[in-house]
Amino acid sequence: MNSVKLILLFFIGLVCFHAGASGTVVRNGGDPLFHFLEATRSAMIETLNIIKLDPSEKDGFCRLKNLNDQQSSFCRDFVLQIAEQLLRLNQQNDKTKFVLKENPLIVSGPDGRPMSVAARTELGASGVIEFHRDSIKLMAPAQILFLITHEFQHKVSFQNRFVTDNEVIGPFASGRELLDSVAVALVEVAKRRGKIGAQYELRDTFDCQIYDGAGRSGSIVSSPRMFLNDALSSYQTSMGRTPLDGGPYVPEYSGARLIFRMQISESGNCSEQNFYASRRKTELAIVRVHAPDGDGRVQPEEVLANQVLEGFNPICDKERKPFGLSHDGVQFTCNYYGSSGRTSTSL
Ligand SMILES: [Zn+2]
Repeated sequence: MNSVKLILLFFIGLVCFHAGASGTVVRNGGDPLFHFLEATRSAMIETLNIIKLDPSEKDGFCRLKNLNDQQSSFCRDFVLQIAEQLLRLNQQNDKTKFVLKENPLIVSGPDGRPMSVAARTELGASGVIEFHRDSIKLMAPAQILFLITHEFQHKVSFQNRFVTDNEVIGPFASGRELLDSVAVALVEVAKRRGKIGAQYELRDTFDCQIYDGAGRSGSIVSSPRMFLNDALSSYQTSMGRTPLDGGPYVPEYSGARLIFRMQISESGNCSEQNFYASRRKTELAIVRVHAPDGDGRVQPEEVLANQVLEGFNPICDKERKPFGLSHDGVQFTCNYYGSSGRTSTSL
């Protein structure tokens, strides 16, 4: 496995006019790690389908350097037998839930003594998969994919039973070695086929309406969230922060437009503790910006209206209150729509 990598993302200012193209939009302002886990679940499903449907991936699966021929073929037969069950556990409406825990997760180790793990689940199809938040918060997508692929294999039946970590199984000295081999092989396919990227990315999506006197229009704005600490609890997300960012706007006379600028600052992952709630804010402005003239000169921007909503972060707001600003008959109003995680391969 790769060493732990920082997954801080600094996609400053890139805002696109489309809702997240992949990944599941979750309609809450939940922990970013949930969105990352869901993006990784999607990568696992897509990779399982490749292994199932692509004859060369199927034949070559589990050919790992550290396995002998007997282990490789056992590992491959095992996956082909459980693939359907794995996919069923991840079907939309009835999928295995993920739970984040603050406290260490303890399981019984190979020597029978308790040991702390990053993830655990009960044997069998029912029950959630638990993750220790501090253990996974800085893991690279490939490491999380490894982890969830290992855990899901505890939830499917093989030869009428469930595989435990510490039993001898086929040519493998322990269930753990078998499940880890499958997970390593799946991660390898996912990387090679572009199903898992090197980092996580989270986008916050806003649904904005613009009234400009003549009529109304709308735009969906999807902004990359910029994390400011390793715990992924402090972040900024914005639209229209620079003239080149995306975001709702109204064209004016030639070369000028009114843009709606928003910047959310969050330091406590939507915690209701006063320390964090009092530092939370959303800054709004309507700004006139000008396009460069023929000589490349740009007139300075003019801030026409602004407001700071202290203690308010639309991502955390359970009532989903709209926020906006108006100036001289032009009104911008936005709602937080949802957040969506995915992995990306490039910075
Ligand atoms: Zn295990």
